[in-house]
Amino acid sequence: MSDLRLMAVHAHADDETITMGGLLALCADRGIRTCNICCTDGKLATIVDPSMPEETTRPRLAEIRQGELREACRILGVDEVHFLEYGDSGMAGEPTNDLPDAFWKAQVHEAVGRVVEHIRRFKPHVVVTYDANGAYGHPDHIQAHRVTLLAVEAAHTPVYPELGERWRVQKLYYTAFPERAARAAIDFARQNGLDTPFGVEDPSELPFLTPDAWVTTTVDCHTVIQRKRSALRAHRSQIGPDWPMLAIPDDVAERFADEYFQLVISRTPPSLPETDVFAGIAVEEPALSA
Ligand SMILES: [Zn+2]
Repeated sequence: MSDLRLMAVHAHADDETITMGGLLALCADRGIRTCNICCTDGKLATIVDPSMPEETTRPRLAEIRQGELREACRILGVDEVHFLEYGDSGMAGEPTNDLPDAFWKAQVHEAVGRVVEHIRRFKPHVVVTYDANGAYGHPDHIQAHRVTLLAVEAAHTPVYPELGERWRVQKLYYTAFPERAARAAIDFARQNGLDTPFGVEDPSELPFLTPDAWVTTTVDCHTVIQRKRSALRAHRSQIGPDWPMLAIPDDVAERFADEYFQLVISRTPPSLPETDVFAGIAVEEPALSA
């Protein structure tokens, strides 16, 4: 077992597998401990599985998605799964953004404290969350970004003294999907007579891309891509067989298995581009004064 630890903070069940399921599985293979924090109950999401009727599934969706996340994380070898149980806020601009339990409306001080507590307990060297647009503009993703950034910085300072010993995260990453990866997938589909993934011909139409120049880190996940695909299938209320990563043959999935990240905080000078989020990490950090 390695002494390294990674924590992911995600808005909904399924985001961890979609954006970084390969990285989580690779960590398991390397003996690196991982912890996934899921901020919301995801109860407003579209239910895609036709065998799950709206009337009987919707009332239990929060519970169903917790079960799906636990199963996906079991497949990926994630060591800890925690739920903050804020309410799903729904898509940007929806009236549900203003529901009293919506994560979007959460008291930031309180939400940050809950993540600080997990950081000081689990002591991650690396933390991963979303960029300032929450990758594609979902209010819960934007809130997860804000709360995680503040928590990473608060965890190593004397604030929240009641929430445990100070801990300084060494590297903070945002998940990323570079324009060049979308273009490569679309070009490959065209050349091989397959349906283009994401339903567009021009990648610039996609709302969730990261400019290539911002992507610092490419992780080769081809050895674990089949586990990631199994974990995607575990999220059956959300992800159907037509999902781009599931609709392609195994060998094509291996070819497009890379995952991408944007390094935004590093306590040591990084050497970029890199292929390992743990590059340059010192396991033993000097103690922080009280
Ligand atoms: Zn999400």
